[in-house]
Amino acid sequence: RSGYRSSDGIYFSKRKPVWIPQACDLDLGSYVFAPQFGDKKALMDAPSGRHLTYDQLERQVRALAAGLYKCLNVRQYDVVMLLSPNCIEFPVIFLAVVSLGAVLTTVHQANTAGEVQKQMKDSGTRLIFTTAALTEKIAGFDLPVVIFGDDEVVPGFSSKPIHQYTELLRTDPYGVPRVKIKQHDTAALLYSSGTTGTSKGVVLTHRNFISLCCMLNAGSDETLSPDDVLLLLLPMFHVYGLGICTVASLARGIMLVVMPQFDFVNMLSTIQTYRVTHLPLVPPIVIGLAKQDIVFKFDLSSLVQIISGAAPLGKEMLEACAKRLPTVQFKQGYALTESTAGCTTCPVNVDDAAAHFGSSGWLLPNMEAMVVDPNTNQPLPPTKEGELWIRGPTIMKGYLNNPKATSESLDKDGWLHTGDLVVIDNDGYLDVKDRLKELIKYNAFQVAPAELEALLLSHPAVLDCAVIPYPDEISGEIPMAWIVRQPEQQLNEDEIMDWIAKQVAPYKKVRKVAFVDAIPKSASGKILRKDLVQLSRAKSNL
Ligand code: AMP
Repeated sequence: RSGYRSSDGIYFSKRKPVWIPQACDLDLGSYVFAPQFGDKKALMDAPSGRHLTYDQLERQVRALAAGLYKCLNVRQYDVVMLLSPNCIEFPVIFLAVVSLGAVLTTVHQANTAGEVQKQMKDSGTRLIFTTAALTEKIAGFDLPVVIFGDDEVVPGFSSKPIHQYTELLRTDPYGVPRVKIKQHDTAALLYSSGTTGTSKGVVLTHRNFISLCCMLNAGSDETLSPDDVLLLLLPMFHVYGLGICTVASLARGIMLVVMPQFDFVNMLSTIQTYRVTHLPLVPPIVIGLAKQDIVFKFDLSSLVQIISGAAPLGKEMLEACAKRLPTVQFKQGYALTESTAGCTTCPVNVDDAAAHFGSSGWLLPNMEAMVVDPNTNQPLPPTKEGELWIRGPTIMKGYLNNPKATSESLDKDGWLHTGDLVVIDNDGYLDVKDRLKELIKYNAFQVAPAELEALLLSHPAVLDCAVIPYPDEISGEIPMAWIVRQPEQQLNEDEIMDWIAKQVAPYKKVRKVAFVDAIPKSASGKILRKDLVQLSRAKSNL
């Protein structure tokens, strides 16, 4: 191709296209283990030093898959839920489940029992993996459970059959029939609210993950090599932690140091102890690096690269960080669950990269984009702000059992309408400017306004409401509720916040409340969220 933008407004990647295996019956597990990294360390539990080599990882995946098949009758297309903090068993479970042609759905460990149950039902889960500490979230569910972690026995926990992970690992892997898995079969169901409404199951295939690995590993201009050490502190239930940090890194033979729980000082000491070279982060942690002086108390000289993604980060913060850690490369990436975490990253070894410091960079190889006028859907020229549409091999198959939401996000030509407002400049660099969609990102975690609005409306003193993002220096955005009270009701801010806090995971809490006489709506009854965003800004002189 000559140039990277076609006459009909399609941007192609400025990176060279990469080859993605076409074999229709290639599955993710076979792809990840094909390079054979032998006794090289694959996964390291940061606090204990317990680790798995690549050979041990592959053996455990095969044994666990056999255990699931022989002892628990897990079959192709069955859905298995994983409710767990980060741990070295997480990838073992994911790869074992998908190697049987079954499907893994992951869930945030902070979610309430009600939220977990909702996802369990929506996804059609028929088996749950969890740790002893989290069994309270699934008490009373009528499903078999596999317990793993330090404690595999939970006194008093009564569920359907309970199985121990280490027992399953003892299963003889021979005698399990080879399942015919197609690249286009589903591998994972990760939950995202997309552009509107509540959380939906994003259907991601083996091909989506394999493509992500190829696009990041074969076609990247990155500095990663098998000698590198990546610190995995981002949650593995999210596509950034699972797709980019875990699967793509394992396919490349990198050692992953896994932190079960995020703690800023612990992160610094872990970098020092394990001589971490690559550090994928989200904006609030980058801000910590830029602001907290404890950073200087640790030897971080091993660090080569820090990448921030999953939520907006101002250029100033990246610059402040870069000043403190002058030998480290800093870059941003942009993606969505619906694109298996693959969309753009900043190139590092090109001449104009420094001039575009802070941008979200170029499309990954094999990806295409359009920036369209949100009112007309017509493509806009470079440097004009519009909605980003993307197309390519990492784009989801659709939302589970939701043809309406799928057709609203994925059009007949395969474009995913991201709901993000962006600019692509004349050099192909993408900058995220704003969001058209409802989504709120608190500490880079998704909060769906529709979910909080449904809860608020069920309060007897609430007549109407709308939940919007409110800017916050550290968390990026906090959920703010605008409330219309029922006549003669005295409900106050704290009562609303406490009432919501009892029903949702902590990251979804409403953290600010204001009252109005009426929620602004369009003629068709749609909440005019931007008007409320402006009103909140005007009120606080932001
Ligand atoms: P998720 O599906 O949880 O990964 O959320 C995807 C959304 O996060 C995108 O649609 C954006 O709104 C936001 N996002 C991801 N990366 C960035 C970035 N680099 N800058 C701004 N927003 C981002």
